[in-house]
Amino acid sequence: MSAVGPVTFSLEADGVGWIVFDDPAARANVFNAATQTAFAAALDAAATARALVIRSAKERIFLAGADLQWLATLPDAAGAAEFSRAGQKLFQRLADFPAPVVCAIHGACAGGGFELALACHWRMASDAPVTQIGLPETGIGTIPGWGGSVRLPRLIGAKPALDHILAARLVGAAEARRAGLVDEIVPAPELRARARQAALRLAAEGRPVRSAPAGCEPAVFAGLRAATVAKTPGRQPAPVAAIDLVERTAGAPFPEALELEARAFGDVTAGAVCKNLVHVFFLRDAAKKRTLDGWFPAGAAQPRPIQRVGVVGAGVMGSGVAQWLAAHAFEVVMRDVQPALVERGLGVIRGLFDDAVKRGKLSTAEGSAGLRRVATTAGWDGFDTCDLVIEAIVENAAEKQKMFSELAALVRRDALLASNTSALPIEEIAGHVADPSRTLGLHFFNPVSRMPLVELIIGPHTSAVAAASALALVKALGKSPAICRSAPGFVVTRVLFFYLNEAVRLWEQGVPAEHIDPAMQEWGWPMGPLRLIDEVGVDVTGFIFGEMEHYFPSRFSGTAACGQMAAAGWRGRKADAGAGFYHYEAGRASVNGAAAALVRGGGPPMEERAIQETLMGVMVREAEAVLAEGVVRSADDLDFALLLGAGFPAWRGGLLRWARAERGAGVP
Ligand code: NAD
Repeated sequence: MSAVGPVTFSLEADGVGWIVFDDPAARANVFNAATQTAFAAALDAAATARALVIRSAKERIFLAGADLQWLATLPDAAGAAEFSRAGQKLFQRLADFPAPVVCAIHGACAGGGFELALACHWRMASDAPVTQIGLPETGIGTIPGWGGSVRLPRLIGAKPALDHILAARLVGAAEARRAGLVDEIVPAPELRARARQAALRLAAEGRPVRSAPAGCEPAVFAGLRAATVAKTPGRQPAPVAAIDLVERTAGAPFPEALELEARAFGDVTAGAVCKNLVHVFFLRDAAKKRTLDGWFPAGAAQPRPIQRVGVVGAGVMGSGVAQWLAAHAFEVVMRDVQPALVERGLGVIRGLFDDAVKRGKLSTAEGSAGLRRVATTAGWDGFDTCDLVIEAIVENAAEKQKMFSELAALVRRDALLASNTSALPIEEIAGHVADPSRTLGLHFFNPVSRMPLVELIIGPHTSAVAAASALALVKALGKSPAICRSAPGFVVTRVLFFYLNEAVRLWEQGVPAEHIDPAMQEWGWPMGPLRLIDEVGVDVTGFIFGEMEHYFPSRFSGTAACGQMAAAGWRGRKADAGAGFYHYEAGRASVNGAAAALVRGGGPPMEERAIQETLMGVMVREAEAVLAEGVVRSADDLDFALLLGAGFPAWRGGLLRWARAERGAGVP
């Protein structure tokens, strides 16, 4: 056996050689320079094998792909193309290997990992749920560049291959088998034995002869291109590059096709969008490992276990939070002021569980068990045994203060008290309770089941134990925490509503909604600011503008239109209102001409670029202020919160990263 490195080789008595990926220094197997060298050495050592099996010794990972840190260091298009050629050459050794090669996949087999599998002669996958297979490269702004963009279309056909590459997601073994990504599925405990059998069979019978898949009409590529451009407003080069490449290489000789792949890979991988998307990948990864380092001078504290959670308010947020908690095995008691309101909230929770079951996220039994974990009350039954209470009543400081006084008097002395407020400083609403060290903010976003971000708000009184316990809870809920110091609007509400207020100001000055919204969509936002206000609620937005004006009298000059529109009954896209800046009929939005009566007008027309610069300028200024005030600890943390909480376009990498690159100040 070769020395213990990330890849080992052993030859057994029956002549089957085993190449095993198992990096002793890491939890995951990834391809970096050391892995490539070790793999090449294993292939050298395997020269006399009758047949070869490639497998991983990790429990959850086959091969997670290329090391993204490595990818991030590629200097330019030429360097990235060279990186591609080196990987292609290595995998070509597998394809050309004199003996048959079986790939035995168990665990994640992603990107470069699956490109390795594609170069093997037979692919089998274990039936374990951890087995997830595919080519997700376009999701990080690049394309499969180690032969995958060429081999997959030749294996399953250009259109199915592109459907898979453009979806940029991993699929389970059954779906992989259906799509032709693997040849067979075997029970996980039998994987090794079955791989050996397959290797010996191929050694005796020869490699499988595969018929070429049917060709593809040019119109299919044109259709895919049009749909992709419409979905990614022409700003993401990788998906289009993948389509172009698969079309161009369809009839090309294999070596020529690989060279085209290397060049296309070089171009997209060296581009800014890929670098930004890889950066966002790292931000997400960092959030999973988020700690409270630096937040408490005395250092970290051990979290206290949380098992039973009280939720006060059974409205939009209360029901959403209660359901998410129950779905993650927490015992919940939810309270509202009247039985009818409690019932309405419980109906929402039931609907959310039904939906999760329908979408296959939970089994029927899990859905029922989750629902049974939710108790309700219009009084305070069951709150005395809670480890944590999350308040989600109306956004009103006086009401919330009263609520925290009431809560502090009836919960256990060591129970944590959290608010789901979108903007109110935690010390203002809860600082007065006995022992305020147990108070903090947990700002979930709407809808809770879809939005991954939770702002964890640390007030001046919050103890290290309270913060550590809340952080552990957020992680146990599978949410991504952004840690913020308590300050009005925290990060997302503050930065977003300064921007929305500026959009309304332009509208009041006479810039039409049909110019403002498309300009910001063109910039990259998933929807324009006025459409977003309709979604949030024109009345809610007007209310938050009032809060911002109250807290930032010298920075925020509130616009009046939202308040006036709400008074006129245009509250946005709500079931009972149906109009705001737009009318909504049969799923289509058309500008609400009557609201235009509120427009002062008279301003000069504004070019698209000027609209973008004005609105993004306001957003960046406010973000810089949030950072300077120490509400978050780094520009990366701020960018992360806006990426997940406000829909900032990931391909731009993050608000402050983008702004600083624009200013040429260098990217931190
Ligand atoms: P909502 O109006 O839908 O629900 C509030 C509920 O609280 C109502 O059912 C009301 O009857 C109940 N309530 C009022 N006083 C109560 C009391 N004393 N005891 C128990 N229940 C009481 O409001 P919402 O949208 O769910 O917002 C709740 C909180 O979450 C607010 O602080 C809001 O700012 C924040 N928030 C809202 C959103 C959003 O998009 N809706 C997003 C993030 C945070």
